[in-house]
Amino acid sequence: WPKKAMEGRDEDIRPCICCHKGCLGRAFEGKPLCCSVNPAVGRERYYEIKKAETPKKILVAGGGIAGMEASRVAALRGHHVTMMEKSGELGGHVIPGSKPDFKYDDRRLLDWYCRQMRELNIDVRMDTEATEENIMAEKPDAVIVATGSKDIALNVPGINRPNVCTASEVLNGTKQAEKRVAMIGGGLVGCETALWLARQGREVTIVEMQGDIILSKSPVPHMNRIMLIDLLNQAKVKVITNNSLLEVKAGSIIIIDNHFSRSELLCDTVVTAAGYKPYNQLFRRLNGKFAELYLVGDAYAAADIQNAIWTANEVALHI
Ligand SMILES: Cc1cc2nc3c(=O)[nH]c(=O)nc-3n(C[C@H](O)[C@H](O)[C@H](O)COP(=O)(O)OP(=O)(O)OC[C@H]3O[C@@H](n4cnc5c(N)ncnc54)[C@H](O)[C@@H]3O)c2cc1C
Ligand code: SF4
Repeated sequence: WPKKAMEGRDEDIRPCICCHKGCLGRAFEGKPLCCSVNPAVGRERYYEIKKAETPKKILVAGGGIAGMEASRVAALRGHHVTMMEKSGELGGHVIPGSKPDFKYDDRRLLDWYCRQMRELNIDVRMDTEATEENIMAEKPDAVIVATGSKDIALNVPGINRPNVCTASEVLNGTKQAEKRVAMIGGGLVGCETALWLARQGREVTIVEMQGDIILSKSPVPHMNRIMLIDLLNQAKVKVITNNSLLEVKAGSIIIIDNHFSRSELLCDTVVTAAGYKPYNQLFRRLNGKFAELYLVGDAYAAADIQNAIWTANEVALHI
């Protein structure tokens, strides 16, 4: 980056997203320092981007962070890349994830990736769902599936009521949260969305089935976790742990604790943030039909930005 700074190419400098997962978070786990958005940090020799001996035609399905990282690295290696994105915007989950003002760095990362797609002249096809048929028609040498993940849907009575929506719907502005909000799920997404809503004057209560918040399977580094807990306290967000959603009613929810005791919580809107599951039907359909078929990002394991970038980088470096 010093060279880019000296040449006045600030927009080409990959921004830090302040996640601490790839650097200090790894140090706390006794692992060598690296970086979530740049897997070559500290191991430059092994992760150097080298020209491919034989340029190939590569089809990338999905234009989230994983699809864009795979496209970027493959194009830098001299491959011919086509990326299909079924929606009208690149970025996948990072679009709602970067909506809160305190997630400004994630927005900068997304802008950086979109710029790289343009600079590398990648053939990006927006509003184009990758299907078995249109992928076959392209006759690619290799296919990278980066179709991301979907919300885990809760199966409880009343979940389809109009006062229920997902965290992404609220963040994207397609659904509105009323005054009293019950946030179902106290992982990173639930807590950040709760903070964002509380700062806009909503009275938010987080309901978490585990004994504490931000303990999801993809661990959040200690310093980020305690800072977010402090900010939630400051914003007067209430937290109920060891409780699960049992039923949604018109103006309340019924929750049940781990001793099977039920209680009622009054609320106008129920926002769900109960985790994500890989969305990889396309991969399963293509399996056995291409000699080189790869699965990356949330479609491989629903996790976080680091997993999306690292899995995509690893595949694109070795095609
Ligand atoms: C609200 C929210 C906040 C988050 N905050 C953080 C955070 O602070 N830090 C962090 O590390 N992680 C965070 N995450 C998780 C992180 O954003 C994801 O793990 C990561 O972005 C996954 O990237 P991906 O490219 O694998 O998948 P996605 O982001 O799901 O992208 C997949 C893309 O593929 C497209 N697609 C799907 N099927 C097809 C098809 N057949 N053809 C063409 N296109 C298709 C989709 O439209 C989408 O654009 C957050 C997630 C959410 C929802
Ligand atoms: S791991 Fe995260 S916080 Fe650390 S340098 Fe990389 S982007 Fe920044």
